[in-house]
Amino acid sequence: MLIDTHSHIYLSEFDEDRAEVVNRAKAAGVAHIILPNVDKETLEPMWALEATDTKFFSATIGLHPTSVDAEYKKELEWVKNKLARRPYCAIGEVGIDLYWDKTFREEQIIAFEQQLQWAIDYDLPVIIHQRDAFEDTIACVEKYNCSKLRGVFHSFGGSLEEAQRILSLGGFYLGINGVVTFKNSKLSHVLEQLSPEYLVLETDAPYLTPAPHRGKRNESAYVRLVAQKLAEIYQQPVNEIIEITGKNATKLFSL
Ligand SMILES: [Zn+2]
Repeated sequence: MLIDTHSHIYLSEFDEDRAEVVNRAKAAGVAHIILPNVDKETLEPMWALEATDTKFFSATIGLHPTSVDAEYKKELEWVKNKLARRPYCAIGEVGIDLYWDKTFREEQIIAFEQQLQWAIDYDLPVIIHQRDAFEDTIACVEKYNCSKLRGVFHSFGGSLEEAQRILSLGGFYLGINGVVTFKNSKLSHVLEQLSPEYLVLETDAPYLTPAPHRGKRNESAYVRLVAQKLAEIYQQPVNEIIEITGKNATKLFSL
């Protein structure tokens, strides 16, 4: 099963041609798409897309670190209420992002830890976003790690040491997207030293478009390009990569 475990095709970037984007994904062999939530603003469009085909889409709930500000307690209360009202396939995306702004580092840590606790309470996997904050992020996950905590470090682009620290937690996978196809990326050398048993595929559409479409809007159909790049790295048929990563995603998200 070719699965895009991280796609924001509910965003306004796709308002003009969303149906065609979905059709192209299905034509490329995509069997399922996970739609990670960002914040209050994205919930309605995400739900609306999920409702068009509940067997093909799965929605998540969470507060994204770049949406954490002085009002974060109210936002968390909102997540808590939504979480109690209907089922989701994961908590996400959550984490710590110090690339754009370090002002709310403490608040980001508190919000992340609270949402890790909810992932444990609701027995759901967690979709983790971190940027320029690996040490803070892994410290939180290590603090909350237990037999129930599991998930994905989405858009993984770190070192072998970082990958090993994530994988030693037990229930975590690395989310691999178009970054692995970038000429200047060292990620393929890191992945060469890891088994595809630890990987899931994603696009992060509309961002991080794989080669040869770099610079254009990303979409879920391009997850196949990520699978093809991994097939090159592991010198395995692309269908084997799709099968292994698809099994990982199916298990992690209980699809
Ligand atoms: Zn995302």
